[in-house]
Amino acid sequence: MNRNDLEQVRTFLHEYDGPEIRLMEVCGTHTASIAKNGIPALLSPAIHLISGPGCPVCVTVTDYIDRLVSLSRTPGTAVVSFGDLLRVRGSRLSLADARADGADVRMVYAPMQMLDFAAREPDRTFVFAAVGFETTAPVYALTLEEAARRELRNVKLLTSLKTMPEVIRAVVRAGTPDGRGRIDGFLAPGHVCAVTGSNEYQELAEETGLPFVVSGFTGPQLLASIAALVKLQGRGTCLNFYPEVVTGTGNAEAKALCRKYYEPCDASWRGLGSIPRSGLRLREEYRTLDAGSSGLDGDHAARGCECAKVLTGQIMPVECPLFGRICTPQYPNGACMVSQEGSCYNWYISGRTR
Ligand code: SF4
Repeated sequence: MNRNDLEQVRTFLHEYDGPEIRLMEVCGTHTASIAKNGIPALLSPAIHLISGPGCPVCVTVTDYIDRLVSLSRTPGTAVVSFGDLLRVRGSRLSLADARADGADVRMVYAPMQMLDFAAREPDRTFVFAAVGFETTAPVYALTLEEAARRELRNVKLLTSLKTMPEVIRAVVRAGTPDGRGRIDGFLAPGHVCAVTGSNEYQELAEETGLPFVVSGFTGPQLLASIAALVKLQGRGTCLNFYPEVVTGTGNAEAKALCRKYYEPCDASWRGLGSIPRSGLRLREEYRTLDAGSSGLDGDHAARGCECAKVLTGQIMPVECPLFGRICTPQYPNGACMVSQEGSCYNWYISGRTR
């Protein structure tokens, strides 16, 4: 987009005076980029941006964290995780608490690092906290593939893998045409679409009668996508504004790897409950690589936490009575304040109020 086009987009979004529009992003990286680029301040007061269930850490239920904590305290077992999950509390403790108490919890930047631990310490079982969406599911599958190639038998996953389409349907169902949870269009997740392709978002658009725009992550890309969603109001169609990365059918290799290792399953989302076929689990033939992922459905949200309402757009983060008082990034009360992709975290650090 050249400077003139960008200026036109900014003017259009700033001066929009049509009906109130509520747009949702369902990608944590979009949430973080919207905050970083100060985009809400550039929009007309009639355009509202809502952060949906796109941060994988934020939607992980407490039973899952409890299971990780329990595994980390099991003799001969180590839990391996990305850093942002360490501070999410289960019903009582977080992995960081468990580690401070002597449990074996190791933070990594890539799942493949776990394989080096496994090779060096063959008598210990390493369990990766496999949390994420369609974007990271192939990475975990690739890790298992590599573990098999290296004949490492002391590697497992505890999966909490989720897929986007069913939770988007659930969010649309949760909103009422005039109610606060109503969503008028979606910024489709650019990274997820790079794997799955944009075609399934065209299907969602036709089914829901709402516009979707697949967006990139820079400020100008996000502004252009938001402007397109405003102009597409009332039309059930999907536009791909990220064609340099996203195709209609996605990444065939990554999808084949996922089909090899996973099958769809019902999944529990923090605050949203169980949503049929909104997750992935290891296929029967790979179940020995699973560290006990099934049945982890319980979700005991922190006292007073309104994450469920935030994630479905029923309230904005600043409307949670604990926001900025009891709950801050330094002392998070709920999962949405922990991750750098969380709604509450991004509202707090950017000073956003609407
Ligand atoms: S501000 Fe904290 S307690 Fe409130 S919804 Fe967000 S994460 Fe939960």
